[in-house]
Amino acid sequence: MHNSEAFRLNYWSIIDTLALYREKSYPSCYADQATYSSISFIDYFFYFNGTQHMRTSQLLLPTLKETPADAEITSHQLMLRAGMIRKVAAGLYNWLPLGLRVVQKVAAIVREEMNRAGAQEILMPAVQPAELWQASGRWQEYGPELLRLKDRHQREFCFGPTHEEVVTTLIANQLRSYRELPLNVYQIQTKFRDEIRPRFGVMRSREFIMKDAYSFDIDTAGLSRSYQIMKDAYFRIFDRLGLDVRAVSADSGAIGGSTSDEFHVLADSGEDSIAICDHCGTASNVELTTALPPLGKRRPATKEITEISTPGIDTISELCAALTIPASRTIKTLLVNGSGGIVALVLRGDHELNLTKAEKYPLVAKPLCFASADDVRLSANCSPGSIGPVNLAIPVIVDESAARLHDFICGANRDGFHLDGVNWGRDLPEPEIADLRKVVAGDPCPVCEEHEEILLKIRKGVEVGHIFQLGSKYSEQLDATVLDEQGISRTLQMGCYGIGITRVVAAAIEQHHDNRGVLWPASIAPFEVAIVPIGLQRSTAVAKAADALYLELSEAGFEVLLDDRQERPGAMFADMDLIGIPHRLVISDRGLKAGSIEYKARTSAESQDITLQDVLTTLQTMHKL
Ligand code: ATP
Ligand code: MG
Repeated sequence: MHNSEAFRLNYWSIIDTLALYREKSYPSCYADQATYSSISFIDYFFYFNGTQHMRTSQLLLPTLKETPADAEITSHQLMLRAGMIRKVAAGLYNWLPLGLRVVQKVAAIVREEMNRAGAQEILMPAVQPAELWQASGRWQEYGPELLRLKDRHQREFCFGPTHEEVVTTLIANQLRSYRELPLNVYQIQTKFRDEIRPRFGVMRSREFIMKDAYSFDIDTAGLSRSYQIMKDAYFRIFDRLGLDVRAVSADSGAIGGSTSDEFHVLADSGEDSIAICDHCGTASNVELTTALPPLGKRRPATKEITEISTPGIDTISELCAALTIPASRTIKTLLVNGSGGIVALVLRGDHELNLTKAEKYPLVAKPLCFASADDVRLSANCSPGSIGPVNLAIPVIVDESAARLHDFICGANRDGFHLDGVNWGRDLPEPEIADLRKVVAGDPCPVCEEHEEILLKIRKGVEVGHIFQLGSKYSEQLDATVLDEQGISRTLQMGCYGIGITRVVAAAIEQHHDNRGVLWPASIAPFEVAIVPIGLQRSTAVAKAADALYLELSEAGFEVLLDDRQERPGAMFADMDLIGIPHRLVISDRGLKAGSIEYKARTSAESQDITLQDVLTTLQTMHKL
């Protein structure tokens, strides 16, 4: 906002200066604006003054009526249709003015909150020397997602997918003493990851903008504090961005108790599944959520074991269809490579194997790999569709829910046959139990365990942020130490904190849209107000009123888009809805005669007439809501 008095005093002298500037520097590009000449100076003024308003006639805004065929999810479709992005190659996009304005708004909020949390902005190079990555061991480890380059001297580099190596080296070379800690530095910068499957537009692109922050502390207590400060800042950021996010615990106990939280925008198009408990508020990635068995004890056997003929049946769904039974009465047996030979993993027929959990089991080889058809035949004497745990001469690990079954049906280790009425402890030994499955909706919450009525929901999520306690993983490899109070050398404790700035834009659309277009949260809308004059070219009254309003609102600090194209009103309304400007003002001869302007909030179905004098106050009130 301007200081209004000072602005008014200086206003005309600035306009004079700009008039001169304009003649010298812009002889032709605005020449055709003679009819609105004073207003064009105002455009210059605001432009040079950093206030962002625009006329559609001057804006590169190539909106599309049709949904592009190659865009699968809503945000990708709407970003293309609203003229926000254009594809260059797989996972590489141009950001057009409208899209870039949103990116910049997201970045500005992130920057403000990072600064508020005490982090300092720096900028590291996007291209990084191979030596740093060799020192951390990630030159090999990172795999094909790392884009490797050679310079003219044949020296190896990569385009940074992340910056732990560079930042740790930077800080290691600058800090000497514990007195300089804690320290948190961040940047907002382009990253490149050669994703195996770039898709959904900027949601999973190869080049994208990330905010990455790195904290440095003398000890783990300090790291915990720095981590909590960032976690709090993330909640403020996503709140200001108008996003409904869940902090999803991604604790990976297996790697030394390191703490990590992912921030997910809940949206159906999300690639991750999140288990949510409305009672205790816990949200965790399905990959890591403990699966509890049904309550109560296993029921006693009531049937005799019998072999049933099931010719040509290879899958649980075929078996259930043939016998008209629910999958929850069957079990499936999967053979995987183990650390000392093939191992059988047993699950209830309606459950899915959780690879992350299975890999953590000592008998199972990591990365998890299913046994070959030859190994299946050697171990079970049948094809994969007929395996069962009865008389299987290899280690058998059983998921707890499968271990609770009685009178169940399983493969007979004989092609074309299954066993019915099977019972643990009678027909085969009591099982070795493990948590092997993915949780499903309706499973009991592992935190509220004792309340059987509290059930988990499964929602899809888009990961927009990830914070991680790295500990000394990089500082050890890259020798980042300082001297403590006793003069003893101590390895720095690090945390890293990412937000996908460009992914946030797509995620915001996934969460805020309707069938006409985007419904931007006010804080990141590319413009705040759209002025749609009807008959601008033929009515001087409309043209004058539009210009006056454009000036008044811009001066009041609003980011205004004036639709001065020679389009039909319907087309202009559709475009303004599509690009999602929160407030729309329609100026027409008819309205002006009655002294009014039509106002409509993008989120509302109804419009209302307001008097010309009340426009500013109405907008100021609506905008604060
Ligand atoms: P994902 O599991 O989605 O690949 P990641 O775990 O690899 O994400 P991080 O390394 O934690 O991601 O990166 C920090 C943030 O950068 C992510 O939370 C996400 O918002 C963003 N991000 C990561 N990969 C991409 C991508 N290919 N396109 C756009 N944004 C991305
Ligand atoms: Mg990734």
